[in-house]
Amino acid sequence: MLGLMQSQPLLISSLIEFADRHHGDAQIVSRRVEGDIHRYTYRDLARRSRQLANTLDGLGLAMGDRVATLAWNGYRHMEMYFGVSGSGRVLHTVNPRLHPDQVAWIINHAEDRVMCFDLTFLPIIQAVHARCPTVRQWVALCDADRLPADSGIPGLVSYDSWIAGQSDQYAWPEFDENTASSMCYTSGTTGNPKAVLYSHRSTTLHAYAAALPDVMCLSARDSVLPVVPMFHVNAWGIPYSAALTGCKLVFPGPALDGKSLYELMEAEGVTYAAGVPTVWQMLLGHVKPNGLRFSTLRRTVIGGSACPPAMIAAFQDDYGVEVLHAWGMTEMSPLGTLCTLKNKHLELPKDEQMKILQKQGRAIYGVDMRIVGSDGQDQPWDGKSYGDLLVRGPWIVDSYYKGESPLVRDAQGRGWFPTGDVATIDADGFMQITDRSKDVIKSGGEWISSIDIENIAMAHPGVAMAACIGMPHPKWDERPIVAVARRPGAEVSREELLKFYEGKIAKWQIPDDVVFVDSIPLGATGKMLKTRLREQLAGYRLPGL
Ligand code: AMP
Repeated sequence: MLGLMQSQPLLISSLIEFADRHHGDAQIVSRRVEGDIHRYTYRDLARRSRQLANTLDGLGLAMGDRVATLAWNGYRHMEMYFGVSGSGRVLHTVNPRLHPDQVAWIINHAEDRVMCFDLTFLPIIQAVHARCPTVRQWVALCDADRLPADSGIPGLVSYDSWIAGQSDQYAWPEFDENTASSMCYTSGTTGNPKAVLYSHRSTTLHAYAAALPDVMCLSARDSVLPVVPMFHVNAWGIPYSAALTGCKLVFPGPALDGKSLYELMEAEGVTYAAGVPTVWQMLLGHVKPNGLRFSTLRRTVIGGSACPPAMIAAFQDDYGVEVLHAWGMTEMSPLGTLCTLKNKHLELPKDEQMKILQKQGRAIYGVDMRIVGSDGQDQPWDGKSYGDLLVRGPWIVDSYYKGESPLVRDAQGRGWFPTGDVATIDADGFMQITDRSKDVIKSGGEWISSIDIENIAMAHPGVAMAACIGMPHPKWDERPIVAVARRPGAEVSREELLKFYEGKIAKWQIPDDVVFVDSIPLGATGKMLKTRLREQLAGYRLPGL
């Protein structure tokens, strides 16, 4: 027997309609590429999203056609999130940190029809436009006055003039909630990137889940600064959850240095921020030496790569800012787990609580997790046994666009997505990543977690960033070494760092060597690029070999 409740498709247009009606006067503040601060409201956002939808209709774009962006976090990008998907087209956010050849490859693979870009990225567009025959319209995200006269891009228009004059009335179409809404290519650290194609259903369910108290806990009382880019995994879904909750939104635009972020936070009363560890390192690097305090910031979500415990402690102990450690993937929309304590943990001593908070956290309802050994058998949830982490759920990838399904089947035939991460899960369900499976160091038949080794190094005051990799060893198979970028002016030595490990991990897990580097190579999404580091250290030999 079927239930007798209304069946209303979960569509992204319903989020913007809701925000318009219930939070119309809540503010959206953007630092623009032009350098100034722009302010408007959700009502304005909804109005211009409808104008954009009319513009796309006028261009004759079909349902499912891809409309791409190459843009920072800002209000025009937000309009595209709703105007493009809401009208049935697919928003394709392209990562501008990729090499232009990869950008061209991605645009062609996605067969984008329109490309809207911030003027910062004009040089990329100039380098690729002649190689992108599917694009019918190039749009600069600016007003008519700032449109470059001699860009060399045929038919280039300014976004503001493109949508101006269009009606701000638009009846958002109703269609199947499984219709594609947006797409994002994976980082592509090995081979060509793969495209994840999100649906209206997966996006709205993720938006609900992300707003929950033990997830991002967003509310109409918050002022939210997503530093995490809208060009990668939809800024962790914050644009959608923001429309659902009506929080004030503060977009940083291109100014992601510690000083600019701090000043924006203070000026706009930011209570909540989200970003990857490297961004917060820059923020703390500005706040600490200048003796500053956060007057409104209460919570920050940190994820995308392992958040060093020293960073959690600095935020919480020195500044009273709660850190929520999060884990996810492009293939997961992206949220999978978030780390918050349970009621029974509230009485624990602080150092015991800290041990829990360093983990990647508990699964959000909607995400099922398993860890399996190399024999495919489930490992116990005891906080010690580790295995390959598999996930399934309604906002997790089933197949790549124009690609294969990565899923593995269980005994009941259900598909699980292999994350490529190695993890433990404890009896309370707290998951902890020990490594990417390809980064695990195997020494004498035992596994060593490179994340543990990096976290210890990064707790040393002289270390800005550390990356641990395995080096071939004739007897032990592999031994860990740690590449370290010192903080400016710091004088830490190899011996001092190796001594720093003593008593913190088992003796055999201590790295064999410390190699000082100017900087740790980072990929297009701010994660450490160990493949490049390995290339850089190609001629390296372990001490004594
Ligand atoms: P991406 O799809 O580019 O967002 O990368 C996803 C990968 O980033 C995951 O599979 C993890 O390896 C890594 N990652 C994300 N969040 C964390 C975290 N909190 N701790 C450790 N690794 C993380």
